Amino acid sequence: MKGKLKEKKRDLKCRICNSEKGLIRKYGLMLCRRCFKEQAERLGFKKYGYH
Ligand SMILES: [Zn+2]
Repeated sequence: MKGKLKEKKRDLKCRICNSEKGLIRKYGLMLCRRCFKEQAERLGFKKYGYH
């Protein structure tokens, strides 16, 4: 079976929900905006567009 050559493509998906939308790759986060926000809140950042 040789049909798997395309696996070299990088995984540009959110690690949590697999969404490709609004992906944040900065700092190696690999999270979409939504999951990033959740994580950020959990980590105690409150600066991501939230007041
Ligand atoms: Zn996500």
